[in-house]
Amino acid sequence: MQLSAQLDAKFQQLVGRYPVKRSAVIPMMMYAQDEYGHLSDEILGEIARRLDMNMTEVTETLEYYSMLRRKPAGKFHVQVCTNISCQLRGGFEIMAHVEKRLGIGNRQTTPNGIFSLEEVECIGACSGAPAMQVNYDFYEDLTPSKVDAILDQFAAGRKPAPVPVISGALHEPHPAEVRVISQRFGIRDSRTLKVYEQNEGYAALKKALKDMTPDQIIDEMKKSNLRGRGGAGFPTGMKWAFVPKNSPKPKYVVANADESEPGTSKDRPLMEMDPHALIEGMVIAGKAIGSHQGYIYVRGEYRYILDIVDAAIEEAYKAGYLGKNILGTGFDFEVCTHTGAGAYECGEETALLDSLEGKRGYPRIKPPFPATAGLYQCPTVVNNVETLSTVPLIIRKGGDWYSSLGVPKNGGTRLYSISGHVNNPGIYELPLGFNLNRMINEVAGGIANGRKLKAVIPGGSSCPLLSAEECDVAMDYDSVAKIGSMLGSGGLVVIDDQTCMVDVARRIMHFYAHESCGWCIPCREGTAWLRKMLDRFHEGGGRTEDIPLIDEVSENMLGKTHCALGDAAALPTMSIVRKWRNEFEDHLKGKCPYKPADVLAMSH
Ligand code: SF4
Repeated sequence: MQLSAQLDAKFQQLVGRYPVKRSAVIPMMMYAQDEYGHLSDEILGEIARRLDMNMTEVTETLEYYSMLRRKPAGKFHVQVCTNISCQLRGGFEIMAHVEKRLGIGNRQTTPNGIFSLEEVECIGACSGAPAMQVNYDFYEDLTPSKVDAILDQFAAGRKPAPVPVISGALHEPHPAEVRVISQRFGIRDSRTLKVYEQNEGYAALKKALKDMTPDQIIDEMKKSNLRGRGGAGFPTGMKWAFVPKNSPKPKYVVANADESEPGTSKDRPLMEMDPHALIEGMVIAGKAIGSHQGYIYVRGEYRYILDIVDAAIEEAYKAGYLGKNILGTGFDFEVCTHTGAGAYECGEETALLDSLEGKRGYPRIKPPFPATAGLYQCPTVVNNVETLSTVPLIIRKGGDWYSSLGVPKNGGTRLYSISGHVNNPGIYELPLGFNLNRMINEVAGGIANGRKLKAVIPGGSSCPLLSAEECDVAMDYDSVAKIGSMLGSGGLVVIDDQTCMVDVARRIMHFYAHESCGWCIPCREGTAWLRKMLDRFHEGGGRTEDIPLIDEVSENMLGKTHCALGDAAALPTMSIVRKWRNEFEDHLKGKCPYKPADVLAMSH
């Protein structure tokens, strides 16, 4: 098949990035789809030929990823998010408006082929909800009239300006904020090497490569009490220490930039405004564990960020911060990006590694853990973007300094994306242990429209919800665990007293049922049955026995699945049915005092 010179060059570059050719299959399909609009048999055959794969292997991988298409979409593919943060701020109304305006339904294309429409899961724009993407561009803080203006411009052949930076990240620092990891947010051209160097950039790398041993780096990380910022909260220094020192195999550092936990959009501004901090952190991690190769796995929806990180990597190579003999120290480290293609499950570290190997993103059975058998069965550290971006700070200023910013065993600060019913949704950096009520009422400006607080999702949609009475709590891993929830991914979703909690449970369950990979029965069947029961309540057909049954099915999923998605679906559901049981009982009587009835048709 004859490819354009540009795509041919891209394919060659991608194949050269990996020790195993198959790893290139998902990025190759994504870039081919960008050029042709969809993936025909012909282009898939060409990809298979270049990667020494057969068509079955290529297509069975393709079918796992929601962004990959066998059929053409419209010239402008409109993707409206209705997941929890967008739902709370009118995402369903926006979806209904776009349907009416374009005269098409979900997954349909206008007869002239100009527009296609898709209702999608969380796109990582939570602090800018409600939001949509058109092709890869983000449009946020939408209203029906804003949507009209955007679609008018596309229809006229002009591209309206997308948001340059995620909404809510460029506010004046709140007095309660402690800005260390977000210190460069808002500085003009902060993503460039020049500005990064002017603001202490790569000073830690010099120190780590020239003056520190791997053990000293790991000790500093342990002293910092930095716990993984992706969700699990595992101590970073300890994770690095698990990597065997004398393994003859290559070792890898993988940045998990597959941020897709609903309610979470804090890695996006880090990469779009401070990509060099991530790169610097990865090289230091490489020195600590004896690795010479890093990969940054970026969720497929974040294409413009992939381009930003690619540009930063190129700058770092040119300046000698990446590549061979970095800064004349004899240490080599290579980094490249890798695009995902739409699969929440790939945020789980072993699923991410399978995806990086060019397969479906199924989680692996552990042990063995990635520290000993990760990418290509070699020792691997997988860390979240925020975790790795914090490393240069810790090396430069010391683990004790970083730890002192937080509370015992919970070092430092963390970035929160605050969304939902607050006056000032946004991205805020606060010390560990900051009080949750103060976060909502002072930092995020309190509950919008003069309403009252009803519930909070403290760290992404997989966390048990907290009631208003439980929000006088220090936001650190241990304190939140004590009241039965989790600090999670830093995605704080605030829910007001005019919100139907049955509907919140239903939307969350639709997401997990959609994302379950289907491998284990409790997750596959449990999420499907819970979705069915919650739909019944929504439609007025709930049964008295369904209330304890929802609880029981959830309970039976807990701890019985290969990966955490089963728990992620069960935990919020159990918390809702237990704490807001009265709302389920109200639905039995056929009344829901909260929601307009015509905007909640969910299509998956
Ligand atoms: Fe797949 Fe769900 Fe099992 Fe995880 S828990 S492996 S998502 S079926």
